[in-house]
Formats: sequence, C-alpha cells, structure tokens
Amino acid sequence: MTLTLHGIGVSKGIAIGKVYILNHQPIEVNECTLSKRALEGEIIRFEEALTVARRQLQEIRDNIPKDKDNAVDLDAFVEAHLMMLEDSLLAKDTVNLIRIHQCNAEWALKLQCENIMRIFAEMEDPYLRSRKNDVEQVVNRVLRILRGYTEINSGSEDALINAIVLADDLSPADTLHMQHYGVQAFATEFGGTTSHTAILARSLGIPAIVGLHKVRAYVRHDDTVIVEGEQGVILISPDENTLSYYQQQQQREKRHRTSLNKIKTTPIATQDGIPITLHINIELPEDVEAVKRVGGDGIGLFRTEFLFMNRSSPPDEEEHFEAYVKVVRALRGGVVTIRTLDLGADKQVDSKRFEKNATTNPALGLRAIRLCLKDPKLFKPQLRAILRASAEGNVRMMIPMVSGLTELIQTQHLVAEVSEELRQKSQKFDPHLSFGAMVEVPSMAICVDLFAPYIDFLSIGTNDLIQYTLALDRVDDSVNYLYDPLHPAVLRLIKTSIQAATRANKHISMCGEMASDSRYIKLLLGLGLRSFSVNPAAFLEVKQIINRSHIQHLSRLAEQVLKASSSTEIAQLLEEINR
Ligand code: PEP
Ligand code: MG
Repeated sequence: MTLTLHGIGVSKGIAIGKVYILNHQPIEVNECTLSKRALEGEIIRFEEALTVARRQLQEIRDNIPKDKDNAVDLDAFVEAHLMMLEDSLLAKDTVNLIRIHQCNAEWALKLQCENIMRIFAEMEDPYLRSRKNDVEQVVNRVLRILRGYTEINSGSEDALINAIVLADDLSPADTLHMQHYGVQAFATEFGGTTSHTAILARSLGIPAIVGLHKVRAYVRHDDTVIVEGEQGVILISPDENTLSYYQQQQQREKRHRTSLNKIKTTPIATQDGIPITLHINIELPEDVEAVKRVGGDGIGLFRTEFLFMNRSSPPDEEEHFEAYVKVVRALRGGVVTIRTLDLGADKQVDSKRFEKNATTNPALGLRAIRLCLKDPKLFKPQLRAILRASAEGNVRMMIPMVSGLTELIQTQHLVAEVSEELRQKSQKFDPHLSFGAMVEVPSMAICVDLFAPYIDFLSIGTNDLIQYTLALDRVDDSVNYLYDPLHPAVLRLIKTSIQAATRANKHISMCGEMASDSRYIKLLLGLGLRSFSVNPAAFLEVKQIINRSHIQHLSRLAEQVLKASSSTEIAQLLEEINR
C-alpha cells in the first residue's frame, strides 16, 4: 500500500528512487578541566582542527565541477562556511573561552556556539535566522575533527548514487557530496522555505521537500519512494499504477525542460502583442552568472542581506559599492534594482525588548526600513554606495517593508543628505536615480494611490504581503497551511495596488515568490500585472507562459476570480485560466 506524507515543497520536480536515510548523530560534548600548563596545547589542538576543517572545505570547493550550471551558487555556500571558520567570533572567542574556563576545546566550542546561536535567534530577518544552521554545521565539522570522526560521506558513496536522501537537516557540504554522487532528491524533517537546504535544492534544480516531520520513522533504507517537489508530497512504497503515473510525469517534465531552452533568445510579449517586463531576483553578486545563463537582462530584486552575514561588524561603504558595481557592470546597461537592507532589529535593543515582553513578534518589529531609519550609521553607507553605483549603469533603489508615507519621506531626506555629501566630495552619481518601494505591508497596498506621487516605481513582495494580510508567520511551518496566494484578500490587495499604480502612471512589478510560480502567472496578467521579477530557475518557464497568454481573455476570467469567495470556486476558475 502506498503511504503518502505531506511536507513543504521547496524545489519542484519528480524523483523516483531508493531511500538513503542520513542520521546526523548529535555529538555529545563534556567539560574537562585542564591544568594551566595544558592550555596552550589545547589551543593548538583547536587551531589544528580549524586548519583541517578549512582544508576539507577547500577540497569540497575545488571539486565543484566548474562547468556545472550551479557551480557559482555552490561555491558561495562553501565560501560562507570558510568565512565562518575565519570569523573571530568562532576562532578567537573559542580560544578565549578555553583560557577563561580552563577547559577542553570541545566544551569551549560548544559554549561559543550557544553564544552565537543566541545572536542569530534575536535576528528578525527569517533569512538570516535560517543561517544559524550553517553555524551549527561548521561547529559540528570542527567537533567531528576534534573527536577524530570521519567525514559523513565516508563509505557511503555507492549507496548515494541515484538515491533519495531523507535527513533531519542537510548541510551545504553534505549536499555537495550528495550532488557529486548523483543523489536525485532530498527530503528533510526541518527547515522552512528559506532554509539553506531549500535554496540549494532550487539552485541545483533538485526536487526537495522540507518540514516532513518524522518522515524517517515511516521509511526504511532502500524503500522505494517518489518525491513530488512541487506539492511537497512523498509517496512511500508506491504501487504499480502510482509508479507508472509518476514515471510518465517525469518524462513529461524532462521534455518540457529541454524545450524551454529554445526560448532563451525570443522576445517577451503576449499573444495579443502586449510587452511584458521579466526580470530576475538575485541574492549575491555571483548570481549574475545564473541571470546570463537563462538570457535575463535585468534585476528586479537584488537582496542585500548577504553582505551583512558571517561577520561581527557591518560592511563599509566600499564593500557595498564593490558588490553593487560588480552586478551593474555585468548587466551592461540592464536595470539593477538594489533593495536596501531588510535585516532584523539591532541585537542589543532587541534582546532588551525580549526580556520585557515575551510575546513580541519579531515579524512586526524593528526590521527592514524601520531599523535603517532608526540607525542611519548602518543605513547611510549603503545609500552612498547605491548612489555611487548608479553612476556606473542603470540602478534603481528599492525600499522594503514600507508601511507609511513618513518612512518614504524620511528615506528621501537621507538620500538627499547623502547626495549632498557625495557632491561635496565630487563623487559621481545619478541625480535622477529611480526610487521605489515594495508593496508588502497591507497598509502600503491599500494606500498606493496616496503614496505613488512620492515614488518612481513599486514592486509587490507577496511573501510578506501574504504573511501580513493573513496574519501568519511565514517561517512557522505549523501555519504554513494558511499561506494562500489565492486568498480573496490577497488578490484584492494585488489588484488594488496594480490599479492605483497604473492610474498614477507608476511602474509596478511583482518580485515575491508568487511571480515565480507557474500556476499564478496568467491570473496575474489578468489582474493587470505587466512586470515580473522571478528566481533564475523559474525564468524560462514564466517567459513561456507569458508568451502563450492572451491578455483580453485572461482579464475577463480574473474579474470572475475577484468576485469568488470560496477557495473551491477560485481553484476551478484558476484551472480554467491555466487551461
Ligand atoms: C517578499 O516579501 O515577497 C520579498 C520579495 O521579500 P523577501 O522575501 O526578501 O522578504
Ligand atoms: Mg519581503
């Protein structure tokens, strides 16, 4: 009998194969008190373990096949782990703890890992919060070396060929090994849609599901399973009929992917000749390679939070500038929409607040533009760097999490201040730099008509807009079932925003995940959206859907969707739209 389990689909595609269960046994660490004389030797032992870890990671990095499409993304992940190893928070502070507590390296490392975890837990940005897994993985690597354990993949290479790996969670290094040995798909018990596993799986193009709680209790090594990465479904020991159905689906997918490459160079326009803008979302300067691979020519969202990661102090203006200019030059005149920092609250302020009020919800707290306006020392170097990068190409500045006009006006004052500083230093910048805002808080969506005169363009961030409209935490997998882009309230806010922006003659795009989801493209076109920014993996598929669409027909159906109240009715209409 086929057993079906549901998780969160984070990377689409179908995989059929034998299960390989990965058990990450927790490494037990005990405290040992050392004599003063033994301390220097212990510190050397710890530093040697760091050197071995560094060598292991460098080896993994050197073995990434350079001709692979995803080589750049994989490289970035290993680099992040290497940077963590170098970070004084991990290296120096652990040595200090060995001295202070006169203890063994394992215990000091465990204590320091807990300190770092506290800092990460207080970050409000879900993306950065999810990076705390990376710290744990780096620490575990060093612990394994200190304990003399072998690498996780030793002896398991053959079993990984064509396997479907089930794990509690996966480290990027494990993932790289598995990809190297031809693993077909992943399913993990933990992790949200923004976890590193999810990001890696998407960039590798490997079907993946996260949040499959206790999956390993229902499956044995070598069981046959089917992973359906789009719906987030795993089918255990499928019967003949199910197996043959999914095999056919798999073949269809393969043919579809091959055919998509043919449209790389074709223009983007609907059947009735309406031009559509299709840009790409990136996270790192290196991602421009992925943009080129799919034939993209513009960045609709450049998330800049990566610049602040794996370090104890914020990047300076030059670091910002170098990262931006690299992308701007690579795009050769194509638009680059740089989103200002969307980071969580200042750590100290935040920890104090947590002590006072245990019910504080970080998603509603001091994050993104709120944090930046409160801390101009953090914000101004970024603003200066974006302005300076604007002298090198077609740059736009976009503000996240705008909830009211005051935030826009205050930001503009800061931009004016920074522009004056640059002028006085005779540094070049575009004085007409486009200034835009994200529509991701309902108050912004409702008031687009009022705020439009203050901005040049808008971009709908559905990931947050859905979170705030439906009152659910987007990183909490227990309420993931409520996350519904088709909820009438969400659709109304999208429609209202598009209408108001269009009336005000302001360009409006969508860069949230909804725009990358093939199921919603035609509906969005019908709702009046003419500009999309999608992840690189979704680009060609979205392009194909747009090129096959007929707007007039879609507008009529979208009107009906807006009048529907029940999800069944909406689902039926969506089926008709996508037919
Ligand atoms: C969004 O909220 O839709 C968005 C694009 O921003 P992020 O996912 O970075 O919050
Ligand atoms: Mg957002």
